[in-house]
Amino acid sequence: MEFWKTKKLHEMTPEEWESLCDNCGKCCLHKLEDEKTGEIHFTSVVCNLIDLKTCRCTRYSERTQKVPTCLDLKQHDFEKFNWLPSTCAYRLLADGEALPQWHPLVSGKAASTHNAGISIRSYAMKEADVDRVEDHIIKWLK
Ligand code: SF4
Ligand code: SF4
Repeated sequence: MEFWKTKKLHEMTPEEWESLCDNCGKCCLHKLEDEKTGEIHFTSVVCNLIDLKTCRCTRYSERTQKVPTCLDLKQHDFEKFNWLPSTCAYRLLADGEALPQWHPLVSGKAASTHNAGISIRSYAMKEADVDRVEDHIIKWLK
């Protein structure tokens, strides 16, 4: 059943909620906020706890204890988190948009996020390997 078409985010079961994540890894990238404008800039520097092949967290169940800045979206009014990337399924559904064709729930293939070039796999660097996060600001084309 295509639950994401019929249920609101807050009506989903924990399993349905988790399955919405396409494992793009974008929300694990470090972000910098412009002090003057409040604009959020993503960088290509990612949390050390990510697996760069799968773009999944290696310590998912304990992530908020291990990394205090890591957010559990379920515990927040995530609709205020307008910094989430425009491709993020939670962002899309909150905005009343459809899931894209490359989303694993639509394509039926776990790797389709990577194959469509949406995930961070091809460019992300772990923070342990970087001197200055400020030198790695990026802009996404999609
Ligand atoms: S940006 Fe959204 S879809 Fe991508 S990994 Fe983060 S929560 Fe999942
Ligand atoms: S702790 Fe895990 S989920 Fe949180 S930012 Fe790091 S890799 Fe991502």
